[in-house]
Amino acid sequence: MSQKKSASRSNRTRQKPTVSPNAASSYYTDSLGFMAMDSNVPGLSNVILQKLNMKSYDEYRLALTGTSLPTNYGIRTYSEMFQKMEDTYKFCAQCKKLPAHLSDPRSMRRCKRCQNVYYCSSECQRENWASHKKFCRKLKLAAIDRLVEWLIFTGDIPFPTGPWKQSHLEVKNWEDWFSMQEDLEDKLGNIMSSRYMQMLWSNAGKPRPENSDLNESVKRLICDFFSRPLSIGFAMDSFSVNPNGGPITIHVVGASHIETLNIRTTDYDELAKMFPGNQGLEVVMVGPEIVESPVMRPPLTAFGPRGRVYLSGYKGLYHIFWETMIETKQAARPDLVVGFHPGFHASQGLAEGWLPTLLLLRDFHIPAMFTMYSEHELKYSLQILAELDTNVLASGPLPFSSLKFEQVQSDPNKPPVNSNALYLLLKGSTWQDEAANMGELEAAS
Ligand SMILES: [Zn+2]
Ligand SMILES: [Zn+2]
Repeated sequence: MSQKKSASRSNRTRQKPTVSPNAASSYYTDSLGFMAMDSNVPGLSNVILQKLNMKSYDEYRLALTGTSLPTNYGIRTYSEMFQKMEDTYKFCAQCKKLPAHLSDPRSMRRCKRCQNVYYCSSECQRENWASHKKFCRKLKLAAIDRLVEWLIFTGDIPFPTGPWKQSHLEVKNWEDWFSMQEDLEDKLGNIMSSRYMQMLWSNAGKPRPENSDLNESVKRLICDFFSRPLSIGFAMDSFSVNPNGGPITIHVVGASHIETLNIRTTDYDELAKMFPGNQGLEVVMVGPEIVESPVMRPPLTAFGPRGRVYLSGYKGLYHIFWETMIETKQAARPDLVVGFHPGFHASQGLAEGWLPTLLLLRDFHIPAMFTMYSEHELKYSLQILAELDTNVLASGPLPFSSLKFEQVQSDPNKPPVNSNALYLLLKGSTWQDEAANMGELEAAS
C-alpha cells in the first residue's frame, strides 16, 4: 500500500537501476506522481512538500524509504492532517492556478457536487464543466474514498474474515466474496459507527456523506485492501498452482513503497484463507524501492508455516535477486511471479529495469501475472511482450480489481482508474510449446 497520506496512487512504479545519476530524479517514482505533476500544475509538487513540512523531494523520498521519518510529518492534529491532504488537491482545474497565485488565496472555490476539484473563479468553473461533468460523479466517490482510506491505518478496515466456506473456484468476483461473509451487515455497521469514523468526519473539513454512500465507500476500500492477495489467488488458479500439494513461493516483482510501506505481517492472510489446507505460502516482495521494515524478513530457505502466509522481502532488482539469492539457494525458486502495475508503458524504464526480469521470466518458463490500470497500459504492455517473444496466455479485466477510484491528482479531468483493473498472464516464449501451456490454463478453469 502506498503513501497513504496522499491517497492517490495513480502514478506507476517501475524498476530502474541506480547506476545512472541522470535517472535519479525519476528513479523513485511515487504515489503523488511527482514526475508528471509539475508539467500539469507548475509548483504543485512544492506545495505538497511544503504541506508535509519537507524541504525537498529528497527529504520526501527519505521519509518514504523510512530512513528519516519526521515524526508524523510535523502534523499535530487530525484536522491539520486532513487539511494538508486536501490542500494538495487545491488548484484551479481549468487554468491550473494555485491558491498562492490568487490575490485572495481564500477565493478558491470547490465543485459542490463532488467536493473534489477546485476553481479560481466562476468563469473557470463554467469553462471547465464540459470536461469535468464526465468525471464529477466518480470524483465524488474518489474524494470520499481518500478520506475513508484512513480507516485502513487505524485498523478498522478491513473487518475480520474467516476461512473461505466456498471453494475458491466458486468465488469469482467481489459479489461472491461479500456474500460469503457471515454477519456482513453487522461488520459493516461496526466500521460505520467506529470511533475513528466519527473522528474522521469531525475533522475532515467536509460534511459526512449519506450513510449509503459511506457504506459503499467502506466496501470499495475493503476490496482495495484485499485486491492484491485475491489477485495472486486468481493467478494461482489460472496456472493451477496448488498450495495443498506442497508449500508455494510467490514473488511480487517490482514491489515498491506502494506495496510495502506500512505493510503488516497479516496483510496477505486472505490468501491462506482462500486455500484452506495449504501447505504454506511465502510471498516475497522484491524491488529496489521496497521499504525496509521488520515485516520484510529475509526470504525463507526452508518451508514456512503450514496453512499460513509468510511475508518476506529483498531490496534490489529481480535479476540480481535471482543471481545472488535463488542461484545460491538462499531463496526458493518461485511457483508464480506477480507484478502489480509494472508500468511497461513508461518505456524509458524498460530497457534499464524490466528487460532483464522479463527475459529471465521468459527463459526460465516462470508463470507470471502483471496487472494494469488501463486498457492503454495493457495494450502497450502486450506490444512490448510480443516484441520480446514472450508467450502471453491470457489478458483481460481482473475479477478482483480494486473498486476504489484513483484520480490523477495533477489532472482531475482525466478518467479515474482502479488498481489491478486488468491483467495479463505469461509463461515461456512463443517458440516454446504453447499447446502445453494452454492445456494447463484450461485445466484451471
Ligand atoms: Zn482558474
Ligand atoms: Zn465536481
